[in-house]
Amino acid sequence: MILPMIRPYEHRWLTNAVNLAEMSTHPQWKVAAILVKGGRVLSMGVNRYRNSPAKVGLEGVSYHAEEVALKRAGDASGATIYVARVTRSGYLGLAKPCEKCQELLETHGVRRAVWTTQHGYGKQRIESMSIFR
Ligand SMILES: [Zn+2]
Repeated sequence: MILPMIRPYEHRWLTNAVNLAEMSTHPQWKVAAILVKGGRVLSMGVNRYRNSPAKVGLEGVSYHAEEVALKRAGDASGATIYVARVTRSGYLGLAKPCEKCQELLETHGVRRAVWTTQHGYGKQRIESMSIFR
């Protein structure tokens, strides 16, 4: 998979996240997140069902990959999170953290996010993401 215009080390982490996303057992979305600090992996997470969609509203159905990674990370302050989404047909999808995850990342002191898009990737400092403007 080719991710244009990305630094080699970022390419490496995002490619790892793409490979991990492909292993997601979530029936609808395949998303994975990797938290990296100082060139080392702090933790990884794959999205998964938390509840049966028949029992709760859509909002409470899934654990997002970012949530899972943060729960396992311990101290994630200053880290970068790499988030990848693979569509059911095997293409890259938009994996920009949702508002709930942006808030969670900010709370845990994560500094930057890098995510896949349909055409490659996007990246931003957490503090300058949409909900904080
Ligand atoms: Zn989210």
